[in-house]
Amino acid sequence: MKRLIFLGPPGAGKGTQAKALSSTYQIPHISTGEILRRATTAQTLLGQKAKVYMDKGELVPDELILDLIKERLAQPDSKKGWVLDGFPRNLAQASFLEQLLANLNQSPDFALNLIVPDEVVITRMLERDREDDNEDTIRRRLQVYRDDTAPVISFYQERGILKSIDGNQSMEAVTSSLQTLVES
Ligand code: ADP
Repeated sequence: MKRLIFLGPPGAGKGTQAKALSSTYQIPHISTGEILRRATTAQTLLGQKAKVYMDKGELVPDELILDLIKERLAQPDSKKGWVLDGFPRNLAQASFLEQLLANLNQSPDFALNLIVPDEVVITRMLERDREDDNEDTIRRRLQVYRDDTAPVISFYQERGILKSIDGNQSMEAVTSSLQTLVES
């Protein structure tokens, strides 16, 4: 049973590593970015609303995200653990999650913070082929990360569950560092 939260800038490799841990521990990988992209492709009301923000590199408003996470964590498969990727992304989301988990009698085991320098994440994102990976949007996402998401690191540090990992290594090296950490 593992309950894991991934933190780190866009392009840090959260998705890749979250998938790897999800498969190792046989627990659901919950990526708010993927859920939103699926909603956008399916052109649901959520997707249409979210796209406006995603295209600009802005955070989607909390009211669109919080219910979605609440529903996802209420699914039966979430009872055996989970890996959160892309949530929480600001302090309001972190407080909401804390309360939600308290109501479910759960608590996260670790907040795993992937540290990768700006120039590396920029290069990685420019090499991906995602619609929101253009230079202006990337710059905005990094700014939003610094302003809104970085404070979440201290939030989990204060709760004693923060673990920082050098994300600027090979994918395999990061995965094995993470596995060692999570087993400790
Ligand atoms: P990345 O971390 O590489 O930017 P994600 O797939 O995690 O990619 O997120 C893509 C976009 O989806 C974000 O730029 C944001 O607009 C939106 N998004 C994802 N998760 C959240 C969230 N928890 N709160 C608000 N917006 C979110």
